[in-house]
Amino acid sequence: MSESVLKITNVNKSFGGLKALNNINLNIEKGKVHAIIGPNGAGKSTLLNVCIGLLAPDTGTVEFNGKNIVGKQAHEINQMGLVRVFQTPEIFADLSLLENVMVPALAKRDGSFKFKIFRSLANEVDIMEEAISALDSIGMSDKLYQLAGSMSRGDKRRLELAVCLIQHPKLLLLDEPTAGMARHDTNQTIELLKKIKEGGMAKIIIEHDMHVVFSVADTISVLARGEIIATGTPDEIKGNPVVQEAYLGGSDE
Ligand code: ADP
Ligand code: MG
Repeated sequence: MSESVLKITNVNKSFGGLKALNNINLNIEKGKVHAIIGPNGAGKSTLLNVCIGLLAPDTGTVEFNGKNIVGKQAHEINQMGLVRVFQTPEIFADLSLLENVMVPALAKRDGSFKFKIFRSLANEVDIMEEAISALDSIGMSDKLYQLAGSMSRGDKRRLELAVCLIQHPKLLLLDEPTAGMARHDTNQTIELLKKIKEGGMAKIIIEHDMHVVFSVADTISVLARGEIIATGTPDEIKGNPVVQEAYLGGSDE
């Protein structure tokens, strides 16, 4: 049996009279890429926000490594190792790539001012080495001192990924990681998503581009009108008439 990283059980969420999530059950396994697809308005962002603690479900549980995280603050969930990759990179344009990647690791270790005083140089060297290794995993270790602001949009999105990787996520959530990318950048991102799997990290990817979904996903769940209408391997999903019906019926973005 595979190990479960995230287990969503009977999750419901309504906005007024609108049922945005209707009895969602999902199991995300260690080391796997789980894609969530569905037409516009299906509830994908709502589900993601419930997972990262930005929205509380009306009912149901979300267990991360066996612990119910419903009611926990977003930053606590993040510290537990559930890390979201933002669609719009939140990077510092005036800092180098290396500095950008070091920021979250420094922030984590410098919990209080007291510790800052005692922070040793060795500690920073460790963080720098980790940052270089994170940049190496996205193929950018030759651009350590380049300013982040000078990079292309696609490169900034990949830098954001390195900023997430240095936090050693157990589960990485990606909301449309290739949206607005040219084909070349999309293909590079696909290769990257396949490559990064340190420590058995699992990934949830919300994506509209079916080429991306079928290239990277081990499992696909289809969301339509707040319900999971199918979960299966890419081949199972491709051949599922209910899925085809939902896609033909609804308008995709
Ligand atoms: P998706 O990401 O799949 O496009 P969403 O999760 O954003 O779908 O939205 C699901 C449904 O919930 C939509 O009908 C949307 O209008 C509604 N919705 C989402 N967020 C809110 C909110 N904060 N208040 C009211 N309705 C919302
Ligand atoms: Mg959305």
